[in-house]
Amino acid sequence: MLIDGKLVSAHVKETVKNEVTDFIEKNGVTPALAVVVVGDDPASAVYVRNKHKACLAVGIASHEFALPASTTEEELLSLIADLNKNKDIHGILVQLPLPRHISEEKVLLAIDPKKDVDAFHPMNVGALVAGNYDFLPCTPAGVMELLRYYNIEIEGKHCVILGRSNIVGKPMAHLMLEANATVTVCHSRTKNLSEITRQADILVVAIGKPKFVRADMIKPGAVVIDVGINRMPDGTLAGDVDTAEAEAVASAITPVPGGVGPMTIAVLMKNTLTAAKKQIFS
Ligand code: NDP
Repeated sequence: MLIDGKLVSAHVKETVKNEVTDFIEKNGVTPALAVVVVGDDPASAVYVRNKHKACLAVGIASHEFALPASTTEEELLSLIADLNKNKDIHGILVQLPLPRHISEEKVLLAIDPKKDVDAFHPMNVGALVAGNYDFLPCTPAGVMELLRYYNIEIEGKHCVILGRSNIVGKPMAHLMLEANATVTVCHSRTKNLSEITRQADILVVAIGKPKFVRADMIKPGAVVIDVGINRMPDGTLAGDVDTAEAEAVASAITPVPGGVGPMTIAVLMKNTLTAAKKQIFS
């Protein structure tokens, strides 16, 4: 079975849209997201455009701040300080990666945690680990929404996560733990990788290596979640899993594109609404 991220994200966005309409009616305030992008990375441009489109679709105001690659760290931090103070902005997202001369760590730390709709600020990371959070990082939360929608049981299952990035792998592990899975996290130094991935009931792959996971790494009947988005030389997109091979072995798999990607943006919309609610009622 192919897990349809477009379908599920449309459901999530429909719910957000209805709640945004209610929120605006009751409070006379439109939830607003500031998206800051520095430089002209083509992939970032696509993501920013998609985020803008999603905001329009659900009734969230979207403000784009496109800064040149030559922007200094001070200039970026000063913009973030302004956005933190601006009562008309409820969510702030800084599109990664940033140019080399700007510290991602400093920038993420500068965002007011209440407006940190990506949930990358250490305070929100800590809240996730403690299981006491307002926002969840968009991609792992999107994966959980997909599994919920398809009634895929997590409790007691062995979830193997391939990749340990701060954005995907690590938060994914915490969410799976919270959902009572038994969790194994693998990375580039893991030995006997295939042996471990073959034990997974749910295999989440986020490594950034096109078609890395082949059929012989998957337990028959496993659920495979492919987070990877890789641009191939011919311009097409491929995941980190060889979908054609995996489909024959797995019971369910997310396609690329049209799997996890659309969910990431749907959760971002949800987080922006949550941020607006929190700020207006605080
Ligand atoms: P990172 O590059 O930050 O992390 C990659 C992780 O994979 C690292 O932990 C690395 O291990 C591990 N890894 C790399 N090679 C191997 C290998 N051969 N065997 C085992 N582990 C390996 O990537 P991200 O987490 O940011 O992204 C991963 C993929 O997901 C990318 O394709 C990205 O484009 C995509 N992505 C998709 C999103 C979506 O919305 N669908 C959102 C975010 C990312 P180590 O730590 O040891 O170096």
